Formats: sequence, structure tokens, C-alpha cells
Amino acid sequence: MNSYQQPDASGHFGPYGGSFVSETLTHAIQELREAYARYQNDPEFLAEFHYELKHFVGRPSPIYHAARTSREMGGAQIYLKREDLNHTGAHKINNVIGQAMLAKRMGKPRVIAETGAGQHGVATATICARYGLECVVYMGAEDVKRQSPNVYRMKLLGATVVPVESGSKTLKDALNDAMRDWVANVDNTFYIIGTVAGPHPYPMMVRDFQSVIGKECIEQMPSMLAEQKVLGQQPDAVIACVGGGSNAMGIFHPYIPFEKTRLIGVEAAGEGLESGKHSASLQKGSAGVLHGNRTFILQDDNGQITETHSISAGLDYPGVGPEHAWLQEIGRAEYVGITDQEALDAFHYLCRTEGIIPALESSHAVAYAMKLAKTMRPDQSILVNLSGRGDKDIGTVADLSGADFYCRPSCQGQSVKGGEQPIKVVK
Ligand SMILES: *Cc1c(COP(=O)(O)O)cnc(C)c1O
Repeated sequence: MNSYQQPDASGHFGPYGGSFVSETLTHAIQELREAYARYQNDPEFLAEFHYELKHFVGRPSPIYHAARTSREMGGAQIYLKREDLNHTGAHKINNVIGQAMLAKRMGKPRVIAETGAGQHGVATATICARYGLECVVYMGAEDVKRQSPNVYRMKLLGATVVPVESGSKTLKDALNDAMRDWVANVDNTFYIIGTVAGPHPYPMMVRDFQSVIGKECIEQMPSMLAEQKVLGQQPDAVIACVGGGSNAMGIFHPYIPFEKTRLIGVEAAGEGLESGKHSASLQKGSAGVLHGNRTFILQDDNGQITETHSISAGLDYPGVGPEHAWLQEIGRAEYVGITDQEALDAFHYLCRTEGIIPALESSHAVAYAMKLAKTMRPDQSILVNLSGRGDKDIGTVADLSGADFYCRPSCQGQSVKGGEQPIKVVK
């Protein structure tokens, strides 16, 4: 096994990463690298970052022992890192604060972002409102239609949402338009990327901002484990869902030196890893260049990006951060798949067993933890990154389950009974 290293000066994690951008962006990227190098260890910058995380986000987020779930699985103790309790309801806010602070220091009054389901757009619009930055969010026209509550949230927060009408009118088209905007407006514009992808330094920088998650866990776990008389100081396994890979890198990275702790990333297996309808870039993809870096991507024989599928919009991405490709190659992290149905089952299970409505993305990690726990002993432990809350997903879940979310006339005046099992994806 190769040993883990920081990326080299050009942002390579082994053969992955780097910076594949047009010449017009080379200068902007260089400027960003220099700014990040200057501030990443600057005491004043870090103090402000931690002040924001504490007072605006509500950190540290707690770790919760899912006692009933653990008991019912009959194996390892399951713990949840509660990123769902952050302001705006997910881990994404950690990263956008760091990048917006850089934008201010670089004298860029205008911020752009791209968004698929709208979660990164909402986080970006939030921090731009807080810092008085102009905010423009590119979003595929299809996604604008599908995610109207998030579009309205961004508007309430003062952002301009630009519907992208080209191509398939989804995330990858929004990305292209955001890039085009950046090329045209580099002088006054900062591009906030929402995951550990993009050209160097983004994958490293976003990981560093999100690493607050894992650093807190390392401090919180010893006393949590002692309470339940679990062996060891740190969990036997850490599990996180992987879309672009930022919540996973955020919890994995500080754990890399803890070699007894398994790191397990959960990709969206959609309708099954063999169905062709999934978003499992690491398990079913191959090396290629996407969004400015070399990584594992889902592509056909001609190198065309293939259609992806997942029940959860946040995992529906044909690539993955380059550091995950590297961690998989050197064997420090393992990557597994959870299907739509398994994620939906875990979603309902957590709602009713722990009183927590998880994001559908996070439900993938919960589902794998429940499977793995059964193969382990009660004096062992699993830590799951609960990346976000599920309020945004209740409409999707209701539709998929054939439930009457809006309580239309058919159910008015009747008592509504919850919790019927089993709930199946209705196709
Ligand atoms: C966006 C999102 C994800 C996926 O993004 P990563 O970069 O892989 O973390 C996962 N969970 C939630 C709640 C999200 O909003």
C-alpha cells in the first residue's frame, strides 16, 4: 500500500487531481492558489472561520448514539455526527463560509455558483447575504422547475438565479455556464464550488474547510465510546455518503492516520450497480477528466459522460473528488453501493426509530451502517456522517411512496395513520 500524502504543488493526489482549465482561467486559478496559500494557516483567518462556525452555523455539531437502532441491529453501536443540525440543514455551509471569506479578502464583490438540487445554491446565497456579496447562481432549467422551493429560498436571500436552457438543462450545463461567466468576469468574481471537485486548489481547499467535521469527531468520540463501554478511543468504522465527496472527505481526512478505523464511502447504486442506472463513479467508472481534474468518472467507450441516476439529487453526479480516487487506489478507503430502495427503507427506519428525518443522501450512509453493524459485536462502533436533514426530501419521498403528501380532499377529515410497512418505491 502506498502511503497517504498531501497533494503535490500542482494538486495531484497520485495520478488524480491537477488542473485542466482553459488558458483564460489559468490566471484566476493561480490567484486563488496564492490567496489560499497565504490564508490557510493565518491565525486571524482561522479565528474568523471558527467564530463563524460557532455563532452562525451552531458548531460543534453533536454526536448522537442511535441506541434503539443499535439494539435492533444487534451488533455494533451506531453513532451519528449531526451535520443535519447546522444552519441551513447540511454540511455545505462549512465550505461556503471559508470560500466567501477568501472572496472578501481577495477583493471580489461578486460570487457565482452552480447548483443541481439547489442545496449548494442556498448555502452560497445564505453566506452572500451575511457578507453583503452579490450572488449569481446557475441552475439547469429542468432543475429550476423540479426544485422550486430552493429557487424561492435563494431569491428570498437576495440571489439571482439564472436558469440554464442548454443541453440537458441540468447540473452539468449549469457548470459550463458558471465557468463561462467566470472567464468573462474574473476580475471581480469569485467562483464558489460546492464539493471536493474542480481544478486545484478546490479539492484540497474544500476538504480543509470540511475537515472541521472529522476534527470534532476525534475530540468527541472517546467520551461517547466510554459511556457505552465500547472498546477503543475511536470508532471501528467511519461511514459517509459520496456524491462529489465533500462530507465524506470532511469526516475521513482527520481519520486517515487512525489506521484501525475503516473509512467507508457509500455511493448511490440507484436501481442496482449492474442496472446502468446509478451514480457509482468509483465502483463502476474509469479514469478521465471532468470539471477541471482527473478522477473516476462514468463514461462510455468514446469518453462521453453517461447519464446518472439516484433517488437523491445530491448524489446524482457522474464524477467524484480526485482524493477519493486516490484513497480507493491506495486502499485506505473502501467504497460500496446502496440502492434507492435500501436508502428509502433506511430513511423511514430512522424517522420512526430515532425521531430524525435524514436527507436522502445521508440515508445511503445510514443504510450501509445498519447492514455492517449486524456483522459486528456490541462492543464495537460505527460513526456515520449524517450530512443533512430530510425536510427538503419529503415531497420526493411522498411521491415515491405513493403517499398523499398534500392531504387532498380524499384524506381530509380522516385521521391519518403513519408508519405502515413496508414502503416501496412506486415506479
Ligand atoms: C450535497 C449533499 C451531499 C453530497 O455532496 P458531497 O460533496 O458528496 O458531500 C450529501 N448530503 C447532503 C445532505 C447534501 O446536501
